[in-house]
Amino acid sequence: MKRIGFTTTIPVEFILAGGNIPVDLNNIFVCSQNPSNLIDEAQNDGLPRNCCSWIKGLYSAAVKEKAVDEIISVTNGDCSNTHALTELYTANNIKVYPFAYPYEEKEPYKVLKNQMITLGNALGVTFDDVYDYCKITDKVRKKLKHIDEMTVQGYITGFENHLYLVSSTDFNSDIDKFSQDIDELIEKAYKRNINNKYVRLGCIGVPTINPVMYDFIESKNCKIVFNEVQRQFSIPSDNPDYVYRYLEYTYPYGIMDRIKDIKEQVKKRKIDGLIHYVQSFCYRQIQDILIKKHLNIPILTIEGDSPGDIDGRTKIRIDSFIEMIEMKKRKGNI
Ligand code: SF4
Repeated sequence: MKRIGFTTTIPVEFILAGGNIPVDLNNIFVCSQNPSNLIDEAQNDGLPRNCCSWIKGLYSAAVKEKAVDEIISVTNGDCSNTHALTELYTANNIKVYPFAYPYEEKEPYKVLKNQMITLGNALGVTFDDVYDYCKITDKVRKKLKHIDEMTVQGYITGFENHLYLVSSTDFNSDIDKFSQDIDELIEKAYKRNINNKYVRLGCIGVPTINPVMYDFIESKNCKIVFNEVQRQFSIPSDNPDYVYRYLEYTYPYGIMDRIKDIKEQVKKRKIDGLIHYVQSFCYRQIQDILIKKHLNIPILTIEGDSPGDIDGRTKIRIDSFIEMIEMKKRKGNI
C-alpha cells in the first residue's frame, strides 16, 4: 500500500481502487503543525520569495517531510508553477505521474478519458475498478452535499463547510474515518440553533491559506453560505459517466465555466455579496478582472500570502464591505 500524493484534485478513485492511500499535499502543508517552517525550508532550498506559498508548501511536504511515496502532478488545469515543481520532485528521486486536464481541446472527453486510462495503467487500475469504488465514494460525496445544504440552511458554519469540502480531495487519507466524522458533524449541527444572520456571503477563488478569516467574517452580522472552489473539489456532479464528472468539475477549465457556476449558486443560495480570495503571486489573480466584469454582485477581493491570521487592513476592508452590503440591503438596493 503506497501513499500517493497529488498537487491538486485528481480522480481520486484511481488511487483508492488500487488499494493505495490518497494524500493531498496541500492538506499536508496547511494542516502541518507549523506550515511557515515548510515555507522557510523551501526558500532555504532556493525557491524564490516571490513564489506562491502553496507551491513552497507542496515542495516541502513531499521533499522535506517525505509525506508520500509517489506523486500525481497535475500539469494542466491547475497551476502555472507545477511544471517546475514536477521537475524538482523528479530531481529529488520522487516518482511522478503527470496528469493533464484538457484545455481548449476539440475533443475534451476523449482527451480526459485517455489521461485517466494512462493514470489507471500506471497504477494498475481499470475503469471497472473505479466504477466499483464509486459505490463507496458516492455515499460520502452525498453526505458532503448534505453538509453543503446544511450550510445554506444555517446549521453549519462557513469554516466547517470549507474544511470538509476541501478535505474531500483525499478524504483525509482515511475514507471510513472521514465518513464517520461527517456523520458526527451532521448530528451535532442539527442540534444547533439556525444561524440567521442578515448578510449572506459566498467565498470564491482558490481556498484561502488563512482559514481564520471564516471566523472573523462570521463574527459579523453575516453568514458564509458558499465556498466555490471547495465545493468543486468535492466533485458535485453525479453524472453516471465518471469522465463527465471531471469535465463538469469547473476548477481546471476556463474562468467562464466557473463564472457560470458562481452565477447559478448566487441565485440559488440568495447570496448578497462575494469575497474573492486571491493568493499572492498566483496567476489566477488576473481572472479577478473577468469575475468583476461578468458578475453583477458586490465583490471584495482580498489577498493572502502566508499561513496565519489575516492582516489588519484586510479586516477593515471586510468590515466596510459587510456594512456596505447591510446598508444596501436595508435600502432595498440588493
Ligand atoms: S494559489 Fe495559484 S500559484 Fe498558488 S498553487 Fe494555487 S494556482 Fe498555483
